[in-house]
Amino acid sequence: MEVANPLSEVSEAIIEAGGEALKSCYQCGLCTASCPWNLVRSFLTRRLIHESQIGLLDLGSEEVWLCATCGACVERCPRGVEIIDIFKALRGIGTQWGVTPKTVKIAMGGILTSGNPWQEEREKRADWAKDLDIKAFTQGTELLYYPCCTPAYDRRARRIALATVDILKKAGVDFGILGPEENCCGESARKLGEEDIFQSLAKGNIDAFKRHEVKRVLVSSPHCYHTFKNEYPDLGGDFEVVHITQFLMELIEDGRIKPEKPFPKKVTYHDPCYLGRHNKVYEEPRKVLESIPELELIELPDSREEAVCCGGGGGRIWMETKKEERFSDLRIEQALEVGAEVLAICCPYCMLNFDDSLLNMGKEDVLEIKDISELVNEVI
Ligand code: SF4
Repeated sequence: MEVANPLSEVSEAIIEAGGEALKSCYQCGLCTASCPWNLVRSFLTRRLIHESQIGLLDLGSEEVWLCATCGACVERCPRGVEIIDIFKALRGIGTQWGVTPKTVKIAMGGILTSGNPWQEEREKRADWAKDLDIKAFTQGTELLYYPCCTPAYDRRARRIALATVDILKKAGVDFGILGPEENCCGESARKLGEEDIFQSLAKGNIDAFKRHEVKRVLVSSPHCYHTFKNEYPDLGGDFEVVHITQFLMELIEDGRIKPEKPFPKKVTYHDPCYLGRHNKVYEEPRKVLESIPELELIELPDSREEAVCCGGGGGRIWMETKKEERFSDLRIEQALEVGAEVLAICCPYCMLNFDDSLLNMGKEDVLEIKDISELVNEVI
């Protein structure tokens, strides 16, 4: 769908979204060279930025919605251009022009009606915890466990929350959940240019956390981690957030859990973009894995700052990706090439994408996808 757009509206929206640095772009092309889309198709980030600068970008183009906000381009840009902010702004205008992809509209509709993109009922948000004897968070509880919408509602990803709860119980941690009082963290909404929806979700969560006097939040998803840690403080959020890999490291160092059963397998670790590149958490997941007896940790060819995105960030998880264009397939191939028997992850979106790829590639017999919480739970 071709949509004409006046130069002033595009430029103003980009500037409003903090994209002032757009003016600094001198078209070196390093962003294009670092973008994972170029591993599967041609995607000229540099050209899109140039067309945004001169107001000639076709907002109806599919390309506006491709960015998975992995941050690889931002890391490399010599001029400090906040390329993700540019995509956020473009999508925001695209939404006003009515060119939002249908699947995104459905996910955002679910958020608007029941606080989650899975279009599930709010009242069912704690169903995953039924029969687990988990207390509701009350004032004075040490830790709030916030599982993320995906483990809360998706049956495949639920195993992350179940393993986490098992570990917390074994370690004797005083924790609780808020269930239907939680909203989606809003990471996808914000990256899809739905700023009003993001603000409303964030306000709901911040109010709930304040009401219950939450001081520390444990999250399973790097997307929740990033949003709570870096974006909620500007909106009045005042609590500490810890990712499960950091918390596991803490429990091991304090002697509250002890990985003691041998796990004699070759394991490789995928750095999720929102834990690694966006928040520089590279060591804790590796240290946790290295603490497991007989586990052999092998690095993927592209790891840490160079990690290839699974393709699920920036709201891409709510969009269709052609089979031949899935980054997660490339990552599975890399894991197989290094001889891994297990691909360790620590993000619910990574789990969905890698599980799908593994199935589609028919490799379930040679490689397992395991969240680090599952691995640890097996050996303590
Ligand atoms: Fe422009 Fe930065 Fe991309 Fe170079 S890397 S083309 S300066 S946005």
